[in-house]
Amino acid sequence: MPDTGNSSATPVAPLPDLVELVKVPVNVNSDGAPSLVGSRCEGCGAAYFPRRLVCYECRSAELQEHLLSRRGTLYSWTTVHVSSSRPTPYTVGYVDLPENVRIFTTLRADRGPLDFDQPVQLEAGPDGGWAFHTAQ
Ligand SMILES: [Zn+2]
Repeated sequence: MPDTGNSSATPVAPLPDLVELVKVPVNVNSDGAPSLVGSRCEGCGAAYFPRRLVCYECRSAELQEHLLSRRGTLYSWTTVHVSSSRPTPYTVGYVDLPENVRIFTTLRADRGPLDFDQPVQLEAGPDGGWAFHTAQ
């Protein structure tokens, strides 16, 4: 190893592979219901999705895996009519979860009209994908 002239430098452990953090965003619970896998800071309680290595609020690196609520409220949405990457039309939007997490997601708009602050619920697709749809 070349001498860098900084013999007092503290070795720094490499970060875990970031791909592992977002590899499994959905957990299927024992009752068959899906939950998004986020993280929660043990220092201040802030929750995140996707998972994070460091808390943006208190900079703690003590974050644990956390299963987020399946139900939330619709903050905003739009329907896309032109796309070069997937069939149209499709609807995307922001969903607010009780953990104070806002998620950008695909929305199933085929189950009735959407409205601001409308209750929505997570569902998992057969291909490992996920989306929110209007809740009863
Ligand atoms: Zn924190």
